[in-house]
Amino acid sequence: MSLDPSSFVFKPAPVVGAPVKGTDKLFPVRRVYCVGRNYAAHAIEMGHDPDREPPFFFQKNPDNLDFSGAFPYPPKSSDVHHEVELVVALGRGGKDISPEDAPNHIFGYAVGLDMTRRDLQGEMKKAGRPWEIGKAFERSAPMGAIVRAEEIEFPASGSVELEVNGELKQQGDLNQLIWKLPEMISYLSQYFELAAGDLIFTGTPAGVGPVSRGDVMRARIAGIGEIEVKCI
Ligand code: MN
Repeated sequence: MSLDPSSFVFKPAPVVGAPVKGTDKLFPVRRVYCVGRNYAAHAIEMGHDPDREPPFFFQKNPDNLDFSGAFPYPPKSSDVHHEVELVVALGRGGKDISPEDAPNHIFGYAVGLDMTRRDLQGEMKKAGRPWEIGKAFERSAPMGAIVRAEEIEFPASGSVELEVNGELKQQGDLNQLIWKLPEMISYLSQYFELAAGDLIFTGTPAGVGPVSRGDVMRARIAGIGEIEVKCI
């Protein structure tokens, strides 16, 4: 494929760039993977037994990411939920990456929200259908700046929190992840060929719940950062 714009029948969509803390340069996003039910307490609140059903993956689209601090309430839903998550950004890809080698593939980390049309997701689950209309809608993935891995300790633990209008709704710790970051990257790389630019939303702790227009979400992960997102 040529990069010459004149070789396309119309102007291609731009590459999505995520801000990187401490630089004006952007992280070019390739794919967005998301892990479902990666905290036991959240799996239980969603009606599942984490001992019997391991976590799994789904995807959002790169252009679902949003860095503006605003979340427009999406159409066709009356039950939109917040899910605060650690986002892992890959700086190197590969297939069949070992858990021991996986940390060498991490470029950095960010705070993200996996916003979910829970009512539509529920209908799809019941029918055994894919989740895209519940998960991969416009601006469904608000995110903060990526902190480079070399600037922080490996985040094996650290509080993950989300407040709505100043009230604490979600709280967990990275040490509660069922799939730890190295095994998550390793597992994913057995099914897909990973590449630099891939993001992984690593799952949400318990306490998910609805937001309404006017609500202000404040999400923080110890050692990574904090974002404020207003539902408009
Ligand atoms: Mn999620």
